[in-house]
Amino acid sequence: MGTFELISKHGEHEEVVFCHDPSVGLKAIIAIHNTSLGPALGGTRMWNYKTEEEALIDVLRLSKGMTYKAATAGLNLGGGKAVIIGDSKTQKTEGLFRAFGQFVNSLNGKYITAEDVGTSVNDMEYIFMETPFVTGIPKGFGGSGDPSPYTAHGVLMGIKASAKWQLGSENLKGMRIAVQGLGNVGSHLVKHLVEEGAQVVVSDIDSEKVKKHVDQYKVKACNPDEILFQDCEILAPCALGAIIHDQSIGKIKAKVIAGGANNVLAEPRHGNQLKELGILYAPDYVINAGGLMNVFVELEGYSAERAFDKTRKVFDNCWKVFEIAKRDNVGTHIAADRMAEERINTIGKLRQRHQGKSSRNFSTLKEVTNR
Ligand code: NAD
Repeated sequence: MGTFELISKHGEHEEVVFCHDPSVGLKAIIAIHNTSLGPALGGTRMWNYKTEEEALIDVLRLSKGMTYKAATAGLNLGGGKAVIIGDSKTQKTEGLFRAFGQFVNSLNGKYITAEDVGTSVNDMEYIFMETPFVTGIPKGFGGSGDPSPYTAHGVLMGIKASAKWQLGSENLKGMRIAVQGLGNVGSHLVKHLVEEGAQVVVSDIDSEKVKKHVDQYKVKACNPDEILFQDCEILAPCALGAIIHDQSIGKIKAKVIAGGANNVLAEPRHGNQLKELGILYAPDYVINAGGLMNVFVELEGYSAERAFDKTRKVFDNCWKVFEIAKRDNVGTHIAADRMAEERINTIGKLRQRHQGKSSRNFSTLKEVTNR
C-alpha cells in the first residue's frame, strides 16, 4: 500500500511529518491527528520497528488515540504522537534528540511532545534545548516528573465512579478489589485502596513486588494466573493490555473492570460482550488520563497540587461515559468514543467561530513559549 493510502486508511490526520537527518541517524515521524481542541500533545516513542510502514501505522494509531484521550479528559488539547525509528538501548545520542527537537520546533507549537516508551526525562532535556514545545522535562526546568501517582489517583476516582454507578456506593470500605500489576501505577493504587478500607488482593509476576506489598499493606496475594478471576466486586488491571479476550471473559466474577492499563479489551467486540454480561467497564483511556492531566498542568506553569486536584475530574468523566452508554444503549467503550467526538464537534466548532476572541485562546501555547 502507498504511503498516502496508508495515512488515509488510519484516520483523518491533519498533518504527518517525516523527519530525516542522516548526519545524526534520525528517522522519525510526527503525526498530528486533530487540533480542534488545542495543540496536539503526545509522547515520542523510540522503537526498533522492523519496517518504516510499521512505524507509520503505529504513529497514526497512537496519535488518534491521544485525540480521544484528551477530548474525554476535558483538556484543551488535541492528539499527536511521534516515533523515532531505532534501538533505544544503543542508538540514543544528544545529536539525535536535538535534531528531533528542531523538527518539533518547526511546527510552532502545533505539536507538543513528551516521554513515551523508549524515551526518558534526559532525552526530553535535549529536546528542550531546541524547543519549548516539550513536556515531561526535569522538575528543575519546571517539569512535572513521574506521572504515575497522578494516573493512580485518577484511577481511584474512576473506581469510585464505577462503584457508585454499578454497586450503588462510592464508598470502597470493605469492597473486594483485585489489582493486577504492582508497577508504578498499581503500587500507588494499592496504597489508595488500602487507605479507603478496601479488601485488596494483589498479583504480579515479580514476586519481590508482591512480598513488598503484602508486608507493607497487609493485603492478600494470589497467583498471576488467578488474579482476573477472583471472587471480587472490582477488577483493576494495571499491568498488560488485551487481558479481556475470548478465553478470559467468561470466567470474570467482578461486576466492574476499572484500572490503569491501556488497551484492556483484546478487540472492541469484547466491550459489547462485557455489556451483555452486565459487567461495567471503565474505558482505559478515560480512567487512566490522570498522567495526561498532569502534563497539561505543566503547560500552564506546574503545580503538583493543581495537578492532583485536576485528576479528581476522572470521576465525572467516567460518570458521563456511563450516562452516554445508558442513553445510547451501547458498550462503554463505544460511549467513550462518542463522548470524545461530541466534545470535538461542539467545542471545536465554537473555537473556530470565536478564533482570536477568547482571552484564553491557546493560552497553553503562550505559556509554554514563555517558559
Ligand atoms: P510498570 O511497568 O511500572 O508496571 C507493570 C507491572 O505489571 C510490573 O510490575 C510487571 O511485573 C507487572 N506484570 C506484567 N505482567 C503481569 C501479569 N501477567 N500479571 C501480573 N502482573 C504483571 O507500568 P506502569 O507505568 O505501572 O503502567 C501500568 C499500565 O498502565 C500499562 O498498561 C500502562 O500503559 C498504563 N498506563 C500507565 C500510565 C503511567 O502514568 N505510568 C499512564 C497511563 C496508562
